[in-house]
Amino acid sequence: VLSTVAKAVAASVRDFIYPPLCFVCEAPTVVADRRVCDECWSSFRPVSVDDPVWVELRDRFGRDGAVSGFLSCYVFEKEGRLQDVIHLLKYRGIKSIGTMLGREIGRRMLEDPTFVGVDYLLPVPLHALKQRERGYNQSEFLCRGIGEVTAIPMLVDVVRRSRYTESQTQLSLDERRENVRGAFEISPKFKPSLEGRTVILVDDVITTGSTITACARELKIAGVEKVVAASVALAP
Ligand SMILES: [Zn+2]
Repeated sequence: VLSTVAKAVAASVRDFIYPPLCFVCEAPTVVADRRVCDECWSSFRPVSVDDPVWVELRDRFGRDGAVSGFLSCYVFEKEGRLQDVIHLLKYRGIKSIGTMLGREIGRRMLEDPTFVGVDYLLPVPLHALKQRERGYNQSEFLCRGIGEVTAIPMLVDVVRRSRYTESQTQLSLDERRENVRGAFEISPKFKPSLEGRTVILVDDVITTGSTITACARELKIAGVEKVVAASVALAP
């Protein structure tokens, strides 16, 4: 008991001398385990359904037909604070940010009829090499946060990258489609549990939707009834 008290005292002395700082703007944060302050958190630009970036993706998914609906919380802005936050999640190992962002997605799902009756959350996979290098897949932490709010279970390793794809950031829409064609496969052991199900593909940022579409096509071939998608942000 004494050591617990001593640790708590030591922690509050430390927080007094070195107050925890927001990882993005470096302002002191009140809550010690929150890595991003409320001001940064509320600076992200919410997506609205008349946003051109939302409309464009809806039309693209609609024309293709593999993805039946999607949900995103924010618009990704270059040099914006959300970019810093996603960078912390992907490249600095701050996994708790993924869970927090996932809870945001989950809260929106509860209010969206597209997401009623969904069976599983599926994180969009990284290539095995990239995951080994990074040590984790950030989308799994998003799924954990979504699961906390919605109680939808996550299935890991259902979708795999069957080949390494180059970074898509410099590619056009057609090049992206070509780049991810045949890049995903469904693990055979999951096929019985996917038959006739509805699943959500979860990714951090959706840009053209070509990765999500390529995964959705494979899932449908494997017997999935309906594929919907969710992401933290949409990038123009
Ligand atoms: Zn901040």
